[in-house]
Amino acid sequence: MSGYDVLIVGAGIIGAACAYRLAERGLRVGVLERAPAPAMGSTGKSAAGVRVQFTEATNILLSWHSIQEYRQMPEAAYRPIGYLLLVPEGQWAAHLEGVALQQQLGVPVEVRDLEAAQEWFNFLPLAKGLEPIRGATYGPADGIVDPHGICLAYLHRARALGAELYTGTEFLAAEPDGVGWQVQTSRGLFTARYVLNAAGAWAGEVGRRAELSIPVEPARRMVFCTAPVPHPYWHPLTIDLSSGFWFRPEHDRLIFGRSNPADLGFQEGMDWAWLEPTLEVGLARFPWLERLQLDQRASWWGYYEITPDHNPILGHMPGVEGWVNACGFSGHGVQQAAMVGRLMAEEIVLGQAQSLDITPLRYERFLREKRLVEKNIV
Ligand SMILES: Cc1cc2nc3c(=O)[nH]c(=O)nc-3n(C[C@H](O)[C@H](O)[C@H](O)COP(=O)(O)OP(=O)(O)OC[C@H]3O[C@@H](n4cnc5c(N)ncnc54)[C@H](O)[C@@H]3O)c2cc1C
Repeated sequence: MSGYDVLIVGAGIIGAACAYRLAERGLRVGVLERAPAPAMGSTGKSAAGVRVQFTEATNILLSWHSIQEYRQMPEAAYRPIGYLLLVPEGQWAAHLEGVALQQQLGVPVEVRDLEAAQEWFNFLPLAKGLEPIRGATYGPADGIVDPHGICLAYLHRARALGAELYTGTEFLAAEPDGVGWQVQTSRGLFTARYVLNAAGAWAGEVGRRAELSIPVEPARRMVFCTAPVPHPYWHPLTIDLSSGFWFRPEHDRLIFGRSNPADLGFQEGMDWAWLEPTLEVGLARFPWLERLQLDQRASWWGYYEITPDHNPILGHMPGVEGWVNACGFSGHGVQQAAMVGRLMAEEIVLGQAQSLDITPLRYERFLREKRLVEKNIV
C-alpha cells in the first residue's frame, strides 16, 4: 500500500476516468473507495443526462469531448434523445448568446421559435404563475448514458493496466511527507506522490481531513418516477428554464424533478414535501402530466456536489504540492467525466492540462473577484 504515484479518493465516474487515464500513461494508481462497491455515490443516482447546451466555453467543450468518447464506448449506452430547453422571454436574448457560442465551437444546437416548438411538442407557453415561453433550443447530440456502466468500464480498464481499487476503504487523513503524501485510511497507511480528490459531494470533507479548504458542499436532489406510461412515445429531455422543472422518458416511464436551492447539507432520504412545489410548476406547463401516476418506490434521491459558482474545481491545489482536485461538478459531472480523466492525467504527468484550457475552473478563481458564470445550471 505504498509507493503509488497517484492515490485517488473516490471510485465514482470521475475517480474512475482519472484512474484509467493515469494508468494508461504508466503511472502506479491506487483508488480508495469508502463504499463496498464503486458508483454508489452521486454517479449511481444521477439522471444520466449529457448536453452541450451550456453558456461557458469550458463547460461546452468538456461535455462535447466527453460525449464523443461515450459515443464510441459500448458500456456508455449513449442514446441521443436530445435536450429541449424551453426559454422564457426574460432569458431569451442571453440564451441566444449562449447558442451562438455553442455553434461557434462547432457543437450541434438548433433554435426553434415558439410556433415550431409547439407544433412539435405539447406544452403551454402561457402558464399560470410562470414566465411566458419565448422559444426553444434543441441539442440533437444531447441525450442520456449509463453512468454506472461508464464508471465500471473505466475501472475495469484501469485495473487491467495495473491500477488497484480498495473498496470499503475510507480516506481518514493526509499529511505531506516531503516527497508526497502519507495517507491514513481505515485499511492502514498508504503513501503516494499525488493525492487526487474525486470524492464528489464529500470532497470538502476530504479536504478538511487534509487541513485544506475546498469549497464543495452537498445538496440533496430528488428524482420522481412515474408508473409505466400506457402509450410511451419518444420525448427529448425537456427543461423549462422558467422554473427549472425537467423530465425525460426512462424506458416505459417518465422521470422528473426540480432543484430545491434550500436543500443543502447531508440530508438523507426522499423529501416528499418537495413533490408538490415540483408538480405545481410542472403541471402548469405540461398539464398532460396529470394523467400519469407516481411510483414512489421507483423514485430516488442523491447529492449534487456544489461549489460557490456551480462549476467544478479542476487541477493542482495552489500552494499545496501534490494535491489535485477533480470535484465540485455541481450536478454535471457525468457528462464531463471522460474529458476530465484525460485532463487530470495531463495535469499530473505533463504538469498542466493541455487538451483544454481549464484556467476558468482552477481553484485560483476563488481567490479572484471575477468568476465563471454558467447560466444553464439545472
Ligand atoms: C439526482 C441527481 C441527478 C443528476 N443528474 C445528472 C445528469 O443528468 N447529468 C450529469 O452530468 N450529472 C448529473 N448529476 C451529477 C452527477 O451524478 C455527479 O456530478 C457525478 O456523479 C460526480 O461524480 P463523482 O465521481 O465526482 O462523485 P461520486 O459518484 O459521488 O463519487 C465520489 C465517491 O467518493 C467516495 N468517498 C467519499 N468520501 C470518501 C472517503 N473519505 N474515503 C473514500 N471514499 C470516499 C464516495 O463513496 C463516492 O463513491 C446528478 C446528480 C444527482 C444526485
